[in-house]
Amino acid sequence: MSSVAELLSQAREAALEDAPLLLAHVLDKDRSWLLAWPEYQLQPSELRQYEQLLKRRQQGEPLAYLTGRKEFWSVELEVSPDVLIPRPETELLVAQALELGLPDQTRILELGTGSGAIAIALGGERPDWTITATDISSAALDIARKNILKQGRSNIRLAQGHWYEAVPHGHKYQLILSNPPYVAADDPHLLEDGLPWEPPQALGAGSDGLADLRTIISAAPAHLLPAGWLLVEHGFDQGRAVRKLFTKAGFTRVLTRRDLGGQDRVTLGCYPPSS
Ligand code: GLN
Repeated sequence: MSSVAELLSQAREAALEDAPLLLAHVLDKDRSWLLAWPEYQLQPSELRQYEQLLKRRQQGEPLAYLTGRKEFWSVELEVSPDVLIPRPETELLVAQALELGLPDQTRILELGTGSGAIAIALGGERPDWTITATDISSAALDIARKNILKQGRSNIRLAQGHWYEAVPHGHKYQLILSNPPYVAADDPHLLEDGLPWEPPQALGAGSDGLADLRTIISAAPAHLLPAGWLLVEHGFDQGRAVRKLFTKAGFTRVLTRRDLGGQDRVTLGCYPPSS
C-alpha cells in the first residue's frame, strides 16, 4: 500500500513536478486535498492508474492529455488528442478581438476551433455576439460541443468543413479569426515539447507553414462585412510574410502584435479600405 504522503515525497525526490496533479486527477480531488489527507492509502487500482499516468508523462505525453483538461482564458476546457492543447499565447488573439471595440450583436466566424477555446473565451466576454466556430474534424467538434455546453454558451454554433467551406456561401461576418496550423512540415519543433502527441493536421501547414494562412487570408474578403476585421495567429518568424499576404488581399491597417514572450504572434487587418 502507498499513502499520498509517500507518493508525493517519492515524486519530489525524483523531481516529477506534475506528479501531484496526476495523483489529484486519479483521486478526483484537487491538490489541496492531497495536503489535507496525506495518510490516505491508495486502492490498488488507483495506484496502478497513477503509475501508468506518471510513466506516460515521463515519456513526454502532455499533461493536458493525461488529465483531459486545460485552462484557457480562466475557463477549464476538456481536451483530448483530437484537439490542439490551447496555448497561453493564443489568449492574445482573444484580447485583440476584444480590443477592436466591435458593436453589440457582432457576427463572428472562428475557423478551426479545435477544443472551442477561442470561441468560448470570446462568447463568454461578449454574450451578445454570435459566433460560428468551424472545424474540419468531427472528433474536434465533439469536444468543442461538450465544452460549449458545459460553459452554457448559447451564442456559439458549430459548423463542419474545410475553412470557409463550413459556412453557407454568402454569409458575411464582422470579424473572422483563426489560430490555424502554421508549423512548417520539416520544423524540428514538431518532434519536441509534446507536439508528437497533438493532431498533426492542427499543427503542420505545408513546406513553409503558410499554406492554411494563405487560404484563410486570401478568401477572407469574400466573407467579411464592410470594414470587417481578420485576425490570425502565426509563428514568431511569420509576421512579415503574413502582413504581406494581408496587404496582397487588400487589407488595410495591417498590424502584427507580439505575445508576452515578445514574439510576433497575431496579425490583423481591416477590409475593405476604410477611408
Ligand atoms: N503555437 C503552436 C506551437 O508552436 C502551434 C499552434 C498552431 O500551429 N496553430 O507549438
